[in-house]
Amino acid sequence: MIKQNVKKLLAEIPSANPFGEKLTLVAAVKLQPAEAINAAIEAGITDIGDNHVQEFRDKFSQINGSPKRHFIGHLQTNKIKYLLGKTDLYHSIDRMPLAEELSKKSAAAGVTSDILIQINIGNEEAKGGFSLEEAESAYKKIAALPALRVKGLMAMLPLSDDNVLLYSLAAKMRGLYDRLRAQDDNFEYLSMGMSGDWQICVDAGSNMLRLGTSIFGKRPV
Ligand SMILES: *Cc1c(COP(=O)(O)O)cnc(C)c1O
Repeated sequence: MIKQNVKKLLAEIPSANPFGEKLTLVAAVKLQPAEAINAAIEAGITDIGDNHVQEFRDKFSQINGSPKRHFIGHLQTNKIKYLLGKTDLYHSIDRMPLAEELSKKSAAAGVTSDILIQINIGNEEAKGGFSLEEAESAYKKIAALPALRVKGLMAMLPLSDDNVLLYSLAAKMRGLYDRLRAQDDNFEYLSMGMSGDWQICVDAGSNMLRLGTSIFGKRPV
């Protein structure tokens, strides 16, 4: 089932977005056992993203192949040490103290960490991230930290079946991405799009999708 889902998705997802940028698919692996993740990798998944530090640690050595490792969940500053040097891209840098601490810990470990700045594009109470209004000043402060490299932005659209609203929010993200990319050569990724909304996000200019349910089915509870 997982392998079929991956093959279907890889066939369905266009190779490039309307801006001509290559699309990267990250499998969102929260609550999935290592066997399921390995099946997805065998079927062609090259990037995996965890939400929980504990799961990231427990499963780390059970994953076959050498997929790129993403961290996509809420990160507590006291858990940074478990991810340092093992994470190819941190998607969820959602507050200044986290950025500062990740830079400090990265510098102490002699690494530069690649990060995305998370934007709360729907201004949702329950979601983390900088607002659209504060995004550019947050970017300036974060880009000035010595041991971080800002590779782009991440957002989660609100749960809604209003496709016009979703597209307009996704397009605002793309606008912000383009403004910042114009000042920063490191910008490469706009991580936006989950199982329910990825087509809209691709149309609006996302170049990195994080899909869980459409690969693994409904999550075990
Ligand atoms: C779970 C999760 C996803 C994937 O969600 P699906 O709807 O299952 O595709 C993407 N991004 C983040 C941050 C997640 O926590």
